[in-house]
Amino acid sequence: MSDPIQLGLVGLGTIARNQHLPSLEDVPALQLAAIASRHAGHETLPSYHDVGEMLAKAPGLQAISLCTPPQGRFAQAVAAINAGKHVMLEKPPGASVSEVEGLARLAREKGVTLFATWHSREAAAVEDARELLAGAKIKRATITWKEDVRHWHPGQEWIWQPGGLGVFDPGINALSILTRILPEPVHPVAAHLEVPENKQAPIAAKLEMETASGAPVGAEFDWRQTGPQTWDILVETDGPEVLLREGGAKLFVGGEARISAEDREYRRLYARFAELIAAGESDVDLAPLQLVADAFLLGAQSRVEAFHDDP
Ligand code: NAP
Repeated sequence: MSDPIQLGLVGLGTIARNQHLPSLEDVPALQLAAIASRHAGHETLPSYHDVGEMLAKAPGLQAISLCTPPQGRFAQAVAAINAGKHVMLEKPPGASVSEVEGLARLAREKGVTLFATWHSREAAAVEDARELLAGAKIKRATITWKEDVRHWHPGQEWIWQPGGLGVFDPGINALSILTRILPEPVHPVAAHLEVPENKQAPIAAKLEMETASGAPVGAEFDWRQTGPQTWDILVETDGPEVLLREGGAKLFVGGEARISAEDREYRRLYARFAELIAAGESDVDLAPLQLVADAFLLGAQSRVEAFHDDP
């Protein structure tokens, strides 16, 4: 077996600690070799202030994984690609559609791999749902994605700022699954965004979409749900209905439980990153980010009650 790819990770925050670090330990094709984070360091690995310092002082790195917020990730990715590194992007891949298109072009020019990840597509039941729906006639699809922002994103200011997506930060996970499992493309026809009066991004949103053949697809996103959390996608077809629950971890077909499996999303992402590097390929699917951008383009906005982390 060839030597593992030496990887540097940028942005040692919530998702890096909870998912990236433990997952990397289980993927032998990649070896975590350095960290860049302004306010945090790793117990044993070389740690740098930012990606620029890491690229300058650790030239042996072959790949960079960006776990920073979407705003600012473009400049980090450009620096890494220009240094000849393969790059993996957390979701959403950027703060705008056009900046990620620019990254994809640059990666092609430089001959490196760019992987725009969608971790929810790696949930246990997503590929089975896709196979079940491949030959089906879609009658209607309904996304219900409701969670408690205070629980999942405490103190994260970037998420409320332009480019942070607000409730579309989790909502884009649902859209990444939707655009993977439906056998035809969807486009938004109307949107309504509820933006707290002290914030720049929505706390709740409704999105009306249609498939290319005209079937309605509705999505309701809400960050104000306390108690049980809801991450469901229901697809009604000419056959049995297909229901994904818990973010794609569970599958029900015609009301019957089919799949319930442990979370291996980030292990699968890193294994795929190594495969893409070995094959000299990139994987950049912008469909989920395009739907969110379209929701902002089409969306009527209402100002709602101010949001504070401490209620
Ligand atoms: P986070 O907890 O705020 O961590 C991001 C880290 O990036 C920070 O700790 C910070 O470390 C660094 N950073 C660099 N520039 C920054 C800036 N301008 N503002 C804030 N932090 C900056 O965020 P996260 O939840 O890990 O999310 C990061 C990305 O992962 C987002 O795109 C998010 O959508 C995605 N994601 C998050 C989750 C989740 O459950 N939290 C799940 C899946 C995906 P330094 O200050 O040390 O540089």
